[in-house]
This record gives sequence, C-alpha cells and structure tokens, in this order.
Amino acid sequence: MSNKRVAVIGAGPSGLAQLRAFQSAKQKGEDIPEVVCYEKQSDWGGLWNYTWRTGVDEDGEPCHCSMYRYLWSNGPKEGLEFADYTFDEHFGKEIASYPPRAVLFDYIKGRVEKAGVRDWIKFNHVVRDVRYDEGTGKFTVTARDSKNDAETAEEFDHVIVASGHFSTPNVPYYPGFESFNGRILHAHDFRDAREFADKDILILGTSYSAEDIGSQCWKYGAKSITVAHRTAPMGYKWPDNWQEVPALVKVEGRTAHFKDGTTKDVDAIILCTGYKHHFNFLPDDLRLKTANRLAAADLYKGVVWNKNPKMYYLGMQDQWFTFNMFDAQAWWVRDSIMGKIALPDQATMEADPKAREAAEDALEDDYACIRYQGDYVEELIAETDYPSFDVEAACQQFYKWKKHKKQGIMEFRNHGYTSPMTGKEAPPHHTPWKDALDDSLESYLQT
Ligand SMILES: Cc1cc2nc3c(=O)[nH]c(=O)nc-3n(C[C@H](O)[C@H](O)[C@H](O)COP(=O)(O)OP(=O)(O)OC[C@H]3O[C@@H](n4cnc5c(N)ncnc54)[C@H](O)[C@@H]3O)c2cc1C
Repeated sequence: MSNKRVAVIGAGPSGLAQLRAFQSAKQKGEDIPEVVCYEKQSDWGGLWNYTWRTGVDEDGEPCHCSMYRYLWSNGPKEGLEFADYTFDEHFGKEIASYPPRAVLFDYIKGRVEKAGVRDWIKFNHVVRDVRYDEGTGKFTVTARDSKNDAETAEEFDHVIVASGHFSTPNVPYYPGFESFNGRILHAHDFRDAREFADKDILILGTSYSAEDIGSQCWKYGAKSITVAHRTAPMGYKWPDNWQEVPALVKVEGRTAHFKDGTTKDVDAIILCTGYKHHFNFLPDDLRLKTANRLAAADLYKGVVWNKNPKMYYLGMQDQWFTFNMFDAQAWWVRDSIMGKIALPDQATMEADPKAREAAEDALEDDYACIRYQGDYVEELIAETDYPSFDVEAACQQFYKWKKHKKQGIMEFRNHGYTSPMTGKEAPPHHTPWKDALDDSLESYLQT
C-alpha cells in the first residue's frame, strides 16, 4: 500500500463512490493509499439512510436526513445508474423506473457490500475540525467518536469532503410566523405525509421539494395544497384541490396573505426553500462557498479545491445526474491523488470554474442544463478508467422524464425508461404511483 493517507468525510453516495473507486484500483493490483472514511451516522447511504428523527440525532448532532417516508425517486433510475453495477445485476431482474427510497438504498448498499469497503469507514465519527499545516504539508482531521465518547485526531495527505449539501435548511422569515396557529416546518423536517391528511397545506417554493412534498400530501389525503412562488409558478397540470399563488407576504393567525391580495386559511406551512452548503467543521481557508448551481465555485474540474489542491470536494453541484456523476468525480479524484492525472498551474485551475460558470449562465433551458451536466460527466469519465457509458442515452431518458412530467405530474412515475447501461426498457410498475400506498421494497419488487 502506498504510504499516502486519504480522509473521506461522509459515507453517502459520493463518499461511497470514492471508496469504490479506490477499491476498484486495488482490485486491479494498483498500489492505493490508505483510505479512512468518517461517517457521523451509524450506517452508510447518506440521505438515503432514512430516520424518523428530526432536529438532533442520537448523538446530539444536527440530524442529516432530509428524506421522508414514501419518497420515490424524483427522476428515472436510468439517469442515475452505476456503470459498474447495474440495477439488473443488483435485483436479478428488470425493475420499474422510479424506485422508492428503500429500493434505492438497497441498490447503493449492494455495490459497496460487493466491494467489501465497510471496514474503511469509521461510523459514529463526526468530523469536528480539519486543519492544514503548511510546514508538514498534512491535514489533521479531528472527529468525535460518539460511541466511545472520545475525540480522535489523525493526519492525512489528502482530504475529500463528501458531506452533502441538502441537509442544512435555508429558513426564511415572514411576518406573523411567531404567532401562526399551526405548524411551520422546513422540508428537511418533513417525514410523513399522513400527518397532513385532511389539512390545508401551504408550501413555499417551487423546487423539487415543493413539487414532491405537495404531491405526497395530495397522495395521502391532504384537503388542499397551496403553493406560493416568488418568481414563477411551476405550471404543471395540478389536481383540483391544488393552487399556485404569488408570494407570501404575511401570516395572521391561520390566515396566509399573498402578494396579489388573496388569502387562504391553512393548518401548516412547509418551507421548501432550499438548503445551504454548510461545512461547520472547516476553517475559512478550506471552506467551499458556492451557490447551488451546476458549476460550483472555486473547484477545478468541479472537484479540486483551488485554494489548496490537496483537498477535494465531491457532489457539490446542483444535480440532474447523481450517482454516476459522483462516480465520475470519484474516479477522477482517485487518479489525481494517485498521480495518474496531473494538475495544471494555478491560473489554469482558477480559470476552469469561471469558464464553467460562464457556460452555465448561457444555458437556455432545463434541457440544455441536463446536456451540460452530461457533458461534464463525459469529460471526467474520458480521463479515467470508469466504465464508459452512453451519457447521451442517459440525457434522452431525462428529456423524456421532463416531458412526462408536463403531460401528467401525478402520472409521470408510471412510465418506464431505457437503461443506458443495458439498453433494456424498464417495465411499468405494477400499481400506478398515486395508488401505491405501500412503497416497501417487498411491495415494489413484486411482479
Ligand atoms: C429530499 C431529497 C430527495 C432526493 N431525491 C433524489 C432522487 O430521487 N434521486 C437522486 O438521484 N437524488 C436525489 N436527491 C439528491 C441527493 O443529493 C443525492 O441522491 C445523494 O444523496 C447525494 O449524496 P452525497 O453523498 O453527496 O450526500 P449525502 O447523501 O447528503 O451524504 C453525506 C454524508 O456525509 C455525512 N456527514 C455530513 N457531515 C459529516 C461530518 N461532519 N462528519 C462525518 N460525516 C458527515 C452524512 O451523515 C451523510 O452520510 C435527493 C435529495 C433530497 C434532499
């Protein structure tokens, strides 16, 4: 084993992609560094590792989970499939295109169980601090081992931050919130749509969370759903008890007042107002500050921290592509650390994210954004030995998905798509999404 030491922070899909990338090089007989992954939760899978908890976790740390019971993939699985581990391989048969959370968790787990990398992870270790020493050229990673109630500090040559960026809520304030006679919560704390059966719900925002949490509440019997937007409505063909209204201005008692002067009495307000890139364990010189966009700031090739290129970030972009993009990044980072890819001079590294930002700013619509991120995935893959796959075919599945959403927002999950990895078309699910109230793995896999 090479005498380099590498710390990976987080064992979600990005961190696990990194472990699999190093393990695949080891499998080929290459001399890999020692890899230590710190994970604050007791299991892997990141956001896909569901908990009913909200607020703080069992160790008093902010609860990482932003997912909810009954969450189904919001895009077709054919867009996120691993090139080195297909859905077919994992499940031993064709499955439908929008797996519920438990099914995707099982898939993520399957690849890393096969790779045998669980021993590389220190579970229940929350990273509290990372420092770089100019003199030694090494990082010190300090973590709290919550099971043994002890602090640990270890030195590393490289640090890879894979702690995710959909966990720390962005929470706006509106006048009257403090005296609202109902519940106000952020999407991060939304767990179970059944809580809102027979209730009038107000949702703020137009993101995936707004669309999907609203759809969940509708599916599980909310009385009405009102979605307030600041710029433009989502514009889908919503069910009869769903309306889109202009921005919220204030709340009085149970009454929400909107910018156009209309009002609505509501029982709960769900803030689907996004997340912050938040790294409370990093000092200023190592801390990424970026908007949630396709070209993250200050990262060469979307992964190398320009201000100290021994440090890397994974999965910090806004995401059309997810698991296979994290793979493309992880394989690239591995090869950079192992000296197979050389970094250019500082000026070139700094120019790279700026050029990517400018290219992103010129994109005209979502279709162009999908293609842009597909091109990025292709670019990274071409520079490593990650199994090449038909990225264009994956983009095509995303385009179809967008069209299906326009046709029927409550029906799009009933469609099947073609795998870019196997070329096979997924069967439709046995039950239409709106009627499939049991979304357990067992129920989903029934034929
Ligand atoms: C509600 C919701 C629905 C989504 N639905 C989909 C979907 O349908 N399809 C899709 O492809 N993507 C979806 N996503 C996107 C999601 O970002 C990715 O699928 C994926 O989980 C990102 O992986 P990650 O490893 O980068 O981050 P995460 O999954 O967030 O994992 C980060 C890991 O880092 C750990 N960690 C954080 N801080 C520390 C620390 N200080 N010390 C140690 N460990 C730490 C966390 O515990 C966690 O395990 C969804 C996201 C949300 C919020």
